[in-house]
Amino acid sequence: MLVLALFQEKERQKQEKRDSIEMRRKEAEERKQKLEQERVQKRQRKTERLEKKRQREEEAAERKRARVKAMAEEAAAAHFCANCGERGLVDDEERSVEWYECDGCECWYHGECLTQYGLIMAVTSLCYGDEWTCKRCNPW
Ligand SMILES: [Zn+2]
Ligand SMILES: [Zn+2]
Repeated sequence: MLVLALFQEKERQKQEKRDSIEMRRKEAEERKQKLEQERVQKRQRKTERLEKKRQREEEAAERKRARVKAMAEEAAAAHFCANCGERGLVDDEERSVEWYECDGCECWYHGECLTQYGLIMAVTSLCYGDEWTCKRCNPW
């Protein structure tokens, strides 16, 4: 009987030890998970912050693009070629369509709508900062 009690006591102690080890392991595991969770949340917050910043920048860039486009459209629509009557297009500059303004009547001309001589005069006057007048203002 005594032997059995002793044996049971030993078993109980062993079990207790196992339990406490198990408990510590669990605690450590939970701590680890919590830390991991915090890390993930921190990362998420950082990603969200970055995403918001990127969005703000994108919106600002978009607004700027819209402003520039509106201005270009306005400027293009405001002048039309006094020779062919075509209005300026927003992408004129990209298509290297050149425009020259007469300093007399303030009319605009496509470079290609000027005579060769007129174009040379217009380009030269731009180069030297001279005035250039169209054929109507100054019939050479
Ligand atoms: Zn023209
Ligand atoms: Zn003119």
